[in-house]
Amino acid sequence: MPSDTVSQGLERLLLTYARTDLTIARGEGCRVWDADGREYLDFGGGIAVVSLGHCHPGPLAAAQAQLERLWHVSNLYRTEPAEELASLLSARFGGAQAFFCNSGAEAIEAALKYARKATGKPGVVALEGSFHGRTLGALSATGQPGKRTAFEPLVPGVRFVPPNDVQALQHAADEEVGLILLEPVLGEGGVVPLDAEFVAAAAALPQLLCVDEVQTGVGRTGSFFAFEELGVRPDLVTLAKGLANGLPIGALLVADDSTGAFAPGDHGSTFGGNPVSCAVACAVVEAIDAELLDNVQLRVARLAGALAPLPGVISVRGCGLLIGIEVEGAAVAVVDAARESGLLVLTAGANVVRLTPPLTVTAEDVEDALQVLERILC
Ligand code: PLP
Repeated sequence: MPSDTVSQGLERLLLTYARTDLTIARGEGCRVWDADGREYLDFGGGIAVVSLGHCHPGPLAAAQAQLERLWHVSNLYRTEPAEELASLLSARFGGAQAFFCNSGAEAIEAALKYARKATGKPGVVALEGSFHGRTLGALSATGQPGKRTAFEPLVPGVRFVPPNDVQALQHAADEEVGLILLEPVLGEGGVVPLDAEFVAAAAALPQLLCVDEVQTGVGRTGSFFAFEELGVRPDLVTLAKGLANGLPIGALLVADDSTGAFAPGDHGSTFGGNPVSCAVACAVVEAIDAELLDNVQLRVARLAGALAPLPGVISVRGCGLLIGIEVEGAAVAVVDAARESGLLVLTAGANVVRLTPPLTVTAEDVEDALQVLERILC
């Protein structure tokens, strides 16, 4: 049981999350344990963050080695982990420069500023139902009125179009628009994959295209970047969640043919490029190999195949291990029932249950999760 001091500490946290009364104390692989020692199978993975599983030995060793060497130095100096990570990401992208920050929202802020500086245009086209973060700039480009209204006026110039509506996109992208911002699969917005045709139409427009891979990137969808499966090469990419297996990090990648807009002083972050986060991220990126990506495809095939025919399931959608199960009733009821049975899953909107387990999830973990979900969704 948590001590009294810890229990009272809950009241000392600002009320920004509807927290479940479950204190997680330890994790290993796809499993976590609560403060009383009860085991849970973690199919949320910190919302698509713990990509290699809890306390994976690779990132753990990288963090320990870096902690003994150097924790922090200003970005006024060079560090090896940040430069190594930038090189690894550039190689995966096929030629890019990186800016490192601490979260997905910060990566989006960097993209918004970069696009303004590069194009001189303030307009942005984003998607209805999208989610790009909670800071004012990222919220301005988030197409969910419920999250925005209380904080208006937001940054002006953002137009929203329905996902997969090519005509609406082409109409909105006029001469005032410098940036088109898309999630390849709308994650928080209900796990809605974009059509390849729609993304290709966005890439064909003269504006900069930023693909927000904060949730989909780093192997989650079965390739290192989700855009690889859509046949486009964006100008900008944002990464965060899964990049450092749970340590805070965010990244903006700028394709080589779009670099040069930022000059010293235009942007920055005290903690951005932190040596420990970057050393861990290098270990994560190196671990995303063909074998791990095959594991993603195998596990999703089994999960989707078993879940789709269940009577309580309307549809199963997503890409790789970003799975949305559209259910008959309230998704939160499924989440609660699963937790009671020792399985942690997420929602993505009112009637979509979201699964984002570690990419290292085993066949046995999948069978254990299915046993619980099949019982609840029958
Ligand atoms: N972009 C996408 C696609 C996301 O899913 C999220 C978070 O869920 C964000 C941006 C914001 O990331 P963060 O919570 O790290 O600021």
